[in-house]
Amino acid sequence: MVSRVIPVEPFDLVIFGGTGDLSRRKILPGLFRRFCDGQFAGESRIIGAARGDLSTDDFRQFVSESIDEFGGVDSCSAGTKAAFLDILRFVSVDAKGEGGWEDLKAIVRPDAVRAFYFSVSPALFGDLARQLTSHDLADGQARIVVEKPFGHDLKTAKALNAVLAAHFDEHQIYRIDHYLGKETVQNLMAVRFGNMLFEPLWNSQYVDHIQITVAETVGVEGRGEYYDRSGAMRDMVQNHLMQLLCLIAMEPPAKFEPDAVRDEKLKVIRALEPVDWHHVVRGQYSEAGDANGYREAVGDPRSTTESFIALKTHISNWRWAGTPFYLRTGKKLRARASEIAVVFKDAPHSIFGAEAGRHRNALIIRLQPNEGMTLDVTIKEPGPGGMRLLDVPLDMSFAEALSGAEVPDAYERLIMDVIRGNQTLFMRSDEVEAAWAWTDPIIEGWTARKDVPKPYDAGSAGPEDSLMLMHRDGRRWREIR
Ligand code: NAP
Repeated sequence: MVSRVIPVEPFDLVIFGGTGDLSRRKILPGLFRRFCDGQFAGESRIIGAARGDLSTDDFRQFVSESIDEFGGVDSCSAGTKAAFLDILRFVSVDAKGEGGWEDLKAIVRPDAVRAFYFSVSPALFGDLARQLTSHDLADGQARIVVEKPFGHDLKTAKALNAVLAAHFDEHQIYRIDHYLGKETVQNLMAVRFGNMLFEPLWNSQYVDHIQITVAETVGVEGRGEYYDRSGAMRDMVQNHLMQLLCLIAMEPPAKFEPDAVRDEKLKVIRALEPVDWHHVVRGQYSEAGDANGYREAVGDPRSTTESFIALKTHISNWRWAGTPFYLRTGKKLRARASEIAVVFKDAPHSIFGAEAGRHRNALIIRLQPNEGMTLDVTIKEPGPGGMRLLDVPLDMSFAEALSGAEVPDAYERLIMDVIRGNQTLFMRSDEVEAAWAWTDPIIEGWTARKDVPKPYDAGSAGPEDSLMLMHRDGRRWREIR
């Protein structure tokens, strides 16, 4: 299968923080892959911006190295790489000072699509927004892209939204949640709303429960200071897991258009019930001898921040009343595995008798590794000896099913959507605020109770209590492997 690449209009993309870690690992190599795929039409340019005193040649060298390390495109010729480096510029600019802004203005073309990627600390978002408008760099068509974290709680998210709204309209603001750029996540919508097969069963009458797992094997790595202020709830649940939950649970939008989709997601978040504290399990990893435990990694022997969280929640609406949603995410777990499992109810009556055991259909949507879907179906165990039942997976790996098709990484796809002006896969201000409004009381609850996270071994499936969260309900988590 050959991928169909639709070129985007000529653009000038300014990356504030163009020399930072995210640019180096994700944004710039991703743009290179889109360039190799022929997606840039006409004369497009990428302008790195940061305080560092780099020349354009220095920046090209930096990008060249980042492509070599993270580009992952063997098929691209040296000539194509040189052509990509040629469209790069660098401007030294300080978000908080006056230096460099006129230089930037002299480079950015008024007749191209203009996008400004804020790949800097959120503390600078307000400064950048103000500088862009006061230096006449951004008109009503310009777009800004902002990175996570979007706020620390409802109050700070509102303040951030207000700062951006003072300079830009909502249709110009692209809040990135890179989970929404993943192929499987979009496929979730295709599967739900493009097939007749699933939708009639997609409700509490047929679905027993839904599990969403995002398990990482890495620890806090070099992000200890940031992570210890956030924890798994703020870093993962409030944004990524919440977005997955929305896409699984939302009503069919009338059209696949930005506000139609985002209106439906917002309704899901607003229908989430407050979480009973008995239904929240927080954990913190430790390692043998604790030399590499969480507290050592963040440099605080008394830290009570969670590196793992599991919780149960409900959605109060007609479709989902009575179907629990279990979410869990954590660091230093047994395997790197992200998936959504829609577990269906038992058949109402077993004609095979009690000895046939309990069998359930489950639709598993794998985000990583090996993006794809599995449908667990019950069949007869082959051979003589009566009717014994067996669950077997109908397995589809996207890589195999779509062999030959280039699947863009989440960042590349989302940046191209910014250039196209398509906000469908970006969070709207009210969505972000509603997500914090649900998250805040949970965090306030454990803070008031002085909750201490349960320790769990690195390389395990998380604390025992998280298993109990399911066992108490007669259910079990799918294995992390
Ligand atoms: P980083 O490595 O610390 O890079 C920060 C960048 O901002 C550098 O290019 C820095 O260059 C520039 N900068 C700092 N102060 C500036 C100022 N006053 N004016 C202009 N430029 C300034 O940070 P990062 O890890 O790339 O993260 C960037 C953003 O992405 C953050 O919001 C982060 O939360 C988010 N994010 C990062 C990751 C990741 O994997 N790294 C993942 C998700 C989200 P100079 O010092 O030369 O100015």
